[in-house]
Amino acid sequence: MAEKAEKIAVIGAGAMGLACAYELLKNHHQVDIYEKDDRIGGMSASFDFDGLTIERYYHFICRTDTPLFELLNELNISETLCWQDTKMGFFYNGKLYKWGDPIHLFTFPKLGLISKLRYALHIFYTKSVKNWESLDKQDAVSWLKKWLGEKTYQTLWDYLFQLKFYEYKGNLSAAWIGTRIKRVALSRKNLFNEELGYLKGGSETLLKALEKQIFAQNGNIYLNADIERIMIDNNQIQGVIVNGEKRFYDKVISTIPLPYIPQIAPNLSESIINKIKAIHNCGVVCVLLKLRSPLTENFWLNVNDPTMEIPGLIEYTNLYQKTESVIYVPFYMPKTHPKSKQENHLFIEEVFGYLHRINPAFSKEWVLATHVSRYEFAQPICTPNFYQQLPPMQTPIQGFLMADTSYYYPEDRSISESVKVGKALAMING
Ligand SMILES: Cc1cc2nc3c(=O)[nH]c(=O)nc-3n(C[C@H](O)[C@H](O)[C@H](O)COP(=O)(O)OP(=O)(O)OC[C@H]3O[C@@H](n4cnc5c(N)ncnc54)[C@H](O)[C@@H]3O)c2cc1C
Repeated sequence: MAEKAEKIAVIGAGAMGLACAYELLKNHHQVDIYEKDDRIGGMSASFDFDGLTIERYYHFICRTDTPLFELLNELNISETLCWQDTKMGFFYNGKLYKWGDPIHLFTFPKLGLISKLRYALHIFYTKSVKNWESLDKQDAVSWLKKWLGEKTYQTLWDYLFQLKFYEYKGNLSAAWIGTRIKRVALSRKNLFNEELGYLKGGSETLLKALEKQIFAQNGNIYLNADIERIMIDNNQIQGVIVNGEKRFYDKVISTIPLPYIPQIAPNLSESIINKIKAIHNCGVVCVLLKLRSPLTENFWLNVNDPTMEIPGLIEYTNLYQKTESVIYVPFYMPKTHPKSKQENHLFIEEVFGYLHRINPAFSKEWVLATHVSRYEFAQPICTPNFYQQLPPMQTPIQGFLMADTSYYYPEDRSISESVKVGKALAMING
């Protein structure tokens, strides 16, 4: 028997909210999406960067992003998916090394042969893992040290963890870092060539196609619509309060960052609220630069240099070519970190110094434009036993479902995972 058509509110018009709404509309429900921003897209939204429409944060696609490929296919935009051979670099203690393939691993002078063999073996092992349950119980640092040894861990990982997770670096799930290694390791044309993807027109192409389908099926998207509270009666969802106005629904599905949930749903049980509060996030302050000339040949540049407080930088136009060079320099940090309050121009100045250190030919005359994007919930911190930590998507309030980027676990954040979770939310009968 066909499911009864319901009137459903989806909160958040990022990739997850849009994918969820699209799925619900396919099943003939009546759907309204509420987004507090002035545009759709959330983390994948674009903006006008001095005449260039580009994403607030970099996005690359991997060969394993199957849920995304299925959606592109359904939306008839598969032909916008492009693949590019990309290079990786490693800026280690003041020197730029080539990285990311067996030749450059074995010619890297800072590690011995045994360490390199252990590193390669670890990647081969991680690529083969299918069940992450046992790694969910282990912490990432101990797991990496066990496989790689102390020196290799210090050379390749410690600085990255320190500059992304700070006080949380010793409490990360091995499963989470494992899926991250696996995703990138499987995105290769062969052993020697990394191949990453992008959408022609950027993530905006996907967002626009979803929006078009949502409108075609009579869904609504309300922008500048900040959901203040959900309404509940007798443990049953009644609707939402948006900009002071009550709107009534059979079901409400939230895709906004979990830390906002206690605010909009204070009546959730204490045990769920406590679980939510125990999940922390890293924020990001992401400096964007438009330059006259490329800085390096790399798309991804890992950094381990005691004079630089960044784990890496992304030269986006070495993946998706544009007339000028566009670089993203993310400063990740929990919101408790004092630097997160620092003004934008100080981050930009700091980055100028780093670019000069990486390529001494760089000067401020290269800079055509700068911008800083900030997001408080850029990366959930997935601790050991994170499966147990996550509250259920179907909350104890009848008709109120929730998920956010933590629910990708053990996978790392990606638009593809948002598509998968968005679809899963739409399928739950509750
Ligand atoms: C620096 C960075 C780099 C990344 N790199 C990649 C990459 O290379 N490849 C990749 O695939 N992914 C990448 N990602 C991840 C990807 O962008 C996210 O996984 C995905 O966009 C998350 O979508 P979402 O809809 O789940 O969440 P969000 O994009 O966070 O959407 C949530 C939405 O809810 C809205 N909202 C919040 N509160 C309310 C409220 N009260 N009422 C109404 N609306 C509300 C927000 O405004 C937002 O639009 C990156 C992310 C960042 C930050």
